Parts: sequence; C-alpha cells; structure tokens
Amino acid sequence: MQWLRMTTEEVERSVRTKIETGLTEKEVQKRLGVYGANKLDDGKRTPAFLVFLNQFKDFMVLVLLAATLISGLLGEYIDAVTIMFIILLNGILGFVQERKAEKSLDALKELSSPQMMVNRSGVWQKVLSTQVVPGDVVKVTSGDRIGADIRLISANGLRVEESSLTGESVPVQKHASPLDAKDASLGDQENMAFMGTMVTQGNGVGVVVNTGMKTEMGKIAHLLQSTESLVTPLQHKLEQLGKILIAIALLLTALVVIIGVWQGHDVYTMFLSGVSLAVAAIPEGLPAIVTVALALGVQRMIKRRAIVRKLPAVETLGCASVICSDKTGTLTQNKMTVTRLWSGGKLWEVSGNGYEPSGAFRLAGVEVLPERERALQQLLSYGAICNNASLMTRSIKQGMLRKERTEYVLDGDPTEGALVVAAMKAGYSTEGLNDQYTRVMEFPFDSARKMMSVIVKDKKGRSFIITKGAPDVVLSQCTTISYNQQTEAFTSSRRTEVEGVISNLSSKALRTIAIAYRPLKANEVCSQPFEAERQLTFLGLEGMIDPPRPEVKGSILECREAGIKTVMITGDHRLTASAIAKELGILREGGQVLEGRTLKQMSVEDLEGCVDDVDVYARVSPEDKLKIVKALQARGHIVAMTGDGVNDAPAIKAANIGIAMGITGTDVAKEASSLILSDDNFATIKSAIKEGRNIYENIRKFIRYMMASNVGEILVMLFAMMLGMPLPLVAIQILWINLVTDGLPAMALGMDQAEGDVMKRAPRSPREGVFARGLTWKILSRGFMIGAVTLAAFWITLEAHPEELIRAQTVAFVTLVMAQLIHVFDCRSEYSVYHRNPFENRYLVGAVLISVLLMIAVIYYPPLQPVFHTVALDMREWLLVLGMAAIPTVVLGGFQLFKRR
Ligand code: ATP
Repeated sequence: MQWLRMTTEEVERSVRTKIETGLTEKEVQKRLGVYGANKLDDGKRTPAFLVFLNQFKDFMVLVLLAATLISGLLGEYIDAVTIMFIILLNGILGFVQERKAEKSLDALKELSSPQMMVNRSGVWQKVLSTQVVPGDVVKVTSGDRIGADIRLISANGLRVEESSLTGESVPVQKHASPLDAKDASLGDQENMAFMGTMVTQGNGVGVVVNTGMKTEMGKIAHLLQSTESLVTPLQHKLEQLGKILIAIALLLTALVVIIGVWQGHDVYTMFLSGVSLAVAAIPEGLPAIVTVALALGVQRMIKRRAIVRKLPAVETLGCASVICSDKTGTLTQNKMTVTRLWSGGKLWEVSGNGYEPSGAFRLAGVEVLPERERALQQLLSYGAICNNASLMTRSIKQGMLRKERTEYVLDGDPTEGALVVAAMKAGYSTEGLNDQYTRVMEFPFDSARKMMSVIVKDKKGRSFIITKGAPDVVLSQCTTISYNQQTEAFTSSRRTEVEGVISNLSSKALRTIAIAYRPLKANEVCSQPFEAERQLTFLGLEGMIDPPRPEVKGSILECREAGIKTVMITGDHRLTASAIAKELGILREGGQVLEGRTLKQMSVEDLEGCVDDVDVYARVSPEDKLKIVKALQARGHIVAMTGDGVNDAPAIKAANIGIAMGITGTDVAKEASSLILSDDNFATIKSAIKEGRNIYENIRKFIRYMMASNVGEILVMLFAMMLGMPLPLVAIQILWINLVTDGLPAMALGMDQAEGDVMKRAPRSPREGVFARGLTWKILSRGFMIGAVTLAAFWITLEAHPEELIRAQTVAFVTLVMAQLIHVFDCRSEYSVYHRNPFENRYLVGAVLISVLLMIAVIYYPPLQPVFHTVALDMREWLLVLGMAAIPTVVLGGFQLFKRR
C-alpha cells in the first residue's frame, strides 16, 4: 500500500534502483537469491515412486502377481521369478514412458512462458518473467500480460484489464502520479499494475515492487488451480474404449479357461495361462503410448518451430479445412522498404535495399537531391517524427576472412522502420529530429483506428499534431492539402487525384501510409485521438514493399492439395492485399475480396452465404475476424486462425486451432492460442498440420498393431481349447510376447514418418472414429489370420512329434512372434505392406531386430530354455514358421495388391 503515495524518487530509493539505468546483472543475481524466482508455486506433483507404484495397480496385474506368488509357494520358482521379472520390467517401461510424456509437457509449458521488457544496466532487453526481481525497471505495452506487481513511473494511454484479480472486466485507466488514498481497494490503485493482469491499450514504464508469491496474485494463488485439460478427445475416447476392450478381453480369457478346464486341462495351469492372457490382451499400455506419441509429435513440431500450447490441438490440426492467415509477417517477410513517395503532385522513386539507409531519389526517372525537394523533405521528416522505431547498427564478421561488416537492425515496428530508413536516405536521423521536435504526447497506433499521431513542439515553441496511417482513413480526416508549398482546400478533384495515386501504389502490392498534420491553437488540448486527428492537412504518401516469404507459395499449394483452403485477412488496402494474394495463389480465378466496411454491415448469417467464395479480407479490423471464424464454422469448417494483437484474442480463442505469432505476438494472443509459431511463418502452419495428420495416423498404426496382436494371441488359445488341443502357449511365453513383441515395435510405430500422401488426402472429419476407414476389419482379419497360422504351425508340429509338446509350443511361440513382427510393417501403410520401404523407420527396424534377437536367445540359449519352456528349432521347423508367419501379411497383402491392379 505504501507504494501508492510515493513519488518516483521515493520509489527509487526504497527499492534501491535507478529509472535510467535499472539494475545490474550482478545485483539481479543477488536479489534472485534473496527473493527467489518470480513465479507462483504450482500444485504438488506426484512423487516418482508413486508414479512407479501406479504401474502395478491394474487389477489383472495384481491377480497375476498373486497367482505368481502362489506358484512360487508351490515350488514353481523359475516360473514365479520370471513372471515377477517380466511384470517389473513392464512396470519400469510404463514408468519411463509416463515420465517422458510428463517431461515433454513441462518443456512445452516453459517454451510458452512469458517474458518482460526490462532495463538492465541501461539496456532494454526481454527476459523471462521468472528472472525479474524487485527493483527492476520494466516497460509494458498493449498486449502484455504483466509479470510482477509494478508501481508505474510513466503511463501513456495505459489501460489494464484486471478481471483476473478484481473480477472487473472493464479495463482501468492507469496513471503514474502519487495517490493519496489510505486504503484503496485493488481496483482503485491506479498507479499500480499487478501480476497476471493485461494491458489492453497504451504503454508505460514502472518499477517492480513485488514478485512471486508476494504479489497480489500470489496472495490468491491457491484459488487459481489451473483447470487446463491435458487430455485430448482421442485419449478420452480411448479411455472409454479401453473399458469395453477390457470387458471383452476378460470375457474371452474366461472362455479360454472354462473350455480348457472342461476339456480336461489342469485347473492351476489354465488359471495361470488365463490370467497371463488377460494381462497380455488388455491394452493397458494404450493411453500411455498415445501420450508418448503425442508428446513425441509435439517435440517434432517444436523442431519445425510450432509450439503446441494445448495438446488437443495436435489432433484438431489434422482436421483443419481452412487456414485464415494474417498477411504481414506471416505470408510476407515484414521487411518493409519505402520505394515510392508522393506529395503535391510529384511521385518520387527511392532505391536501396532493406534497412540499409542509403539510396537515391528519382523524379520521373531523373535523380534529384532531396535537399532541393521541400515537399519531399517535409513528408520524410514527418514520417520519421510520428514514429517509435529506430535503426541500430551491429558489426558482424563474414566470410572466410571474417571481414567485419556493419549490419542495420531495426528496433520497432517494420512499417515505421521503413519510414525511418527512407528519411535517413535524405539525411534525417532520429536523433537530429528529436533534437528539433520535442514530443508532448502520443496517440499510439491501433489496428482498429489504423492511425498513429504525435503532438510535438518545435524550437520556436509552435505545437502541431502529426498523423500517419492507412490512407483512406487519414484522407477522411483531411480538409486541406499541402500542394506546391501551399495549403489548399481539399477539393474533390484533388481527392480524386490522391485516390488515384493510392490505387496505383496499392495495386503494385505496396503498403501505403498517408501523412498529415495540423498546427495546434495556442491553448488547444487534445486528450483523446478523435479530438486531435481531425481537420488535418494532407501532406503525402509513402509506399513500401513487403516481399512475400519465398516458401509460402509452395506451402499454400500443398495445403490446397490437402483439401485446405487458405484465406488472407489483412488490415491492408484492398488492392495491396489482392496483388499479393494473387502472387501467392490465394486469390483464385473468380475468388472474392471482401472489405472490412462491407463485412461490418454483414451478420454472421449473411457472411455464411458467401464465405466459401471469399479468398481475401482487406482493411479488416481484428474484431471482425470473429465473424469470419463463426461463419466458416457454421459452414462446417475446422478453422485455423492466426493473430498477434490483443483484439485478435477472441477470434483466436473461437477458432478450432488458434495460432499466435511467437515473435510479434502479444502475451494475450499467445495465451488465447493453442499453437504458437516461433518464426511467425505461414509455412510452419503447414508443417504443423502435416505433423498433426501424421501423429494421428501413427496412433492409428499402433492401435492397429497392438489390437491385431492381442486378437491373434487370444484366438490361438481359444481355438486350441475349442478344438480340444493341448495349450499352444505357456503363461511365460504370453507375457514375454506382451512385453517384447508388442511393446517395442508399437512404440517405434509412434515415431513413424508420414506416409507419402498424407498431404494429398482430404482433411479428416472431426467426427471420424479411431476405427474408421476399415481399421476394425484390418484388425480382426489380420488378428484372425495370425491366430490361425500360429495354431496351424502348432498342429503340424504336434502331428509330426506327438510326444514333444514343448517343441510344438516353441514353434507356436516363434510363429506368433514372427507373424506379428512381419505384420508391424503392414501397419505403416493405409494400403498394404508393399506401399512403403520397410527400412525407412530406423526405430522400427531396430525394435524388430531386438525382438528377433531376444527371441532367438530365448529358444537357443540353454539356460533360458527351461525358463521359457522352449527347445532349439531346426531348419525345417524354421521354414514352417516363416512360411506360416508370412501368410497374414506378405501373402494376403500380395493377393490384395494383385486384385487391385
Ligand atoms: P496484416 O493484418 O496483414 O497482418 P497488419 O496487421 O500489419 O496487417 P494493421 O497493423 O492493422 O495490419 O495495419 C493496417 C493499416 O494501418 C496498414 O495497412 C497501414 O496502412 C496502417 N499502419 C500500419 N502500421 C502503422 C503504424 N505504425 N502507424 C500508422 N499506420 C500504420
């Protein structure tokens, strides 16, 4: 409370800091030691040993453990110890998977954790909010989520939304003056900004006074248990399905046991086999593997610069049918360069590259000296005064000889940077202009107003307002025009002339900025933008190029082939937008361009009627994006929508996949999003969609593999019992198959590469079940075949050696293992095993090799033979095994291929 009443100096003194220089790195480290990291304690997490114990809480595993204990007591030591060992190994595997999934989810959280702009030793820099300490001097701007409790030192039209603290959703106007209030409630502390609240407008500077649990937010932290769901719809569905599968598996194993006992088998042996079969057949590992597959996919996405904030988005990505993308920075490079200038009837061209401040001015093709062009000078200098960007230099070493070269880097908005660079080409530096003109006030740019203005005072004490912004908007506020150094009335013929120039520049894909001004009367005060930005004198136009990102055109084409439409939404002029959209292949033959002002007058229902024909939305305010999302969704689309500003947040939230920009995006947009592009690039959305489709397919692949394997295992036992045969597999063999043959390759399938045509298929319907597209049939038919060939191999061997049951069981065991290990390659393709190179997935080849080697050890290594009830097989038996094992996949797949041809 004491902060409210303090002056700036008092605040500085009490937290031992200086506004101009901030804290030093050394001091920050010291304070971090005293105050701790700036974060709220999150809830308790489950300790590792509990996670480990959880692996064994499954009912059937407990029954198996009990059964093993009994068999141990009965003297079957080897069996008991081996089964225990296998269960333990299974538990460890489950534990490792779960931990891995948890770790990668934690890493995700860290990646999207907020940063703050801090003054450290006089240099403004972005640091992780956790590293901010009391005494840090921080800057906050529109769109920021404030990361600590701050006493404001300056505020510029600063409005903060504090609903997370006070419940009040109307943003509060903030200022920096000392307050007299004795016991002001949080909502009344207008010179403070609190952790967790967000800046909706303006900017400000402040001093951090409290961090971490000491903040107002920290005091109520226990109330804020995060309710963010980490379970995807698919995981949820699988959990439900798992229950049904367990019931079926239990029913079938009970059937195996009952028939076995009825056929005269020993009750104890049947019980142990039955329980083992149940443990093997119950897909208890499914949810964990799904999580691992999702987590691994998410890791791959991070490598492609897409950060998933909400896991369910991974699945939805595969269903996306429309991408609504911002233009500037996402489709284009956001490296603006002014190439044309117009004022008072003259059109200049400027040469030069990027932010390098050198270039020549030409008028009608003839080089001119900017010093001689008064109108040009005024236009350029005003463009640089009404501006917050600045150009900095950095020396870099290049080439083999490490030659030093100066590189220009921009600090600020690229549109403004372009204006600064253009002015520098004519000799105006930001410092020089700041010297001549003192800024009194600023009305910051916002995408809805599409203008920015400053009030400045010159050396002679004259004040005036300079406005820059979208030309059509600025034009509507101008009543006079500066022409040939004269201020004239803005007649309709002059207007037509200017509009012609705007169209001309825009149709060349140039972003055009208009500049206007007005001298202020002696005691005129303007506290709101609308009071200042009126009755202006039109000065001229600056047109800048913003080249498309080279990789975007290809990505848009790829999306189209994948049945995904790309729509451009931009605040830019209709003609600028159309020109770039055409170049990128977004605006098709017959496609429509809808303008913001038309859009404003339409209802969602109106828009629904034409939304499928619109390729480009121009001069749109962020607020209108929500309407576009709703209309598209009403047409049944799954919409991905990009955004960066505060006003984009509602649309990002409403979209099926909300995408925020990692570089230019505000905290508010990021928090509303489910995906962040760390490079702001459209091509990254395409990669993420491709990965999303692949992750889903991979999950289907291992569900297919695991379930077909389980069906095979149950059917071998069931058929054998029904046919009155001896047991084809003993308990330990079943458990071994469950651990090695089912486990490893299934995980490797989760890391499989995308099948060649994933981006040539139409988007998946979100209503599609996991087993759609014939998966049930594939699982049942392959499972049945695997069971049948195993039983056949068993029967043939038993006929040949009626007295050697162990030999026949070994053959059955090896056939089942090999049939599954061949079948796993079939699961990689929607079509057949012949559609893909089997060696492509190195993990899978490795997993299969390990499984084969372990199996060979089990049957040939004499000490293991009694443990696993096996004997060494000879050549003829191997031929039988391989011949039989190949039938379900190689032979049937070949047959299918032949039929298709
Ligand atoms: P996109 O929507 O394609 O990403 P954008 O978000 O950059 O584009 P806005 O920032 O809303 O679009 O800009 C809309 C218009 O406002 C621009 O076409 C330009 O004319 C004008 N404008 C952009 N930046 C500024 C600025 N800093 N000052 C004044 N006017 C600006």
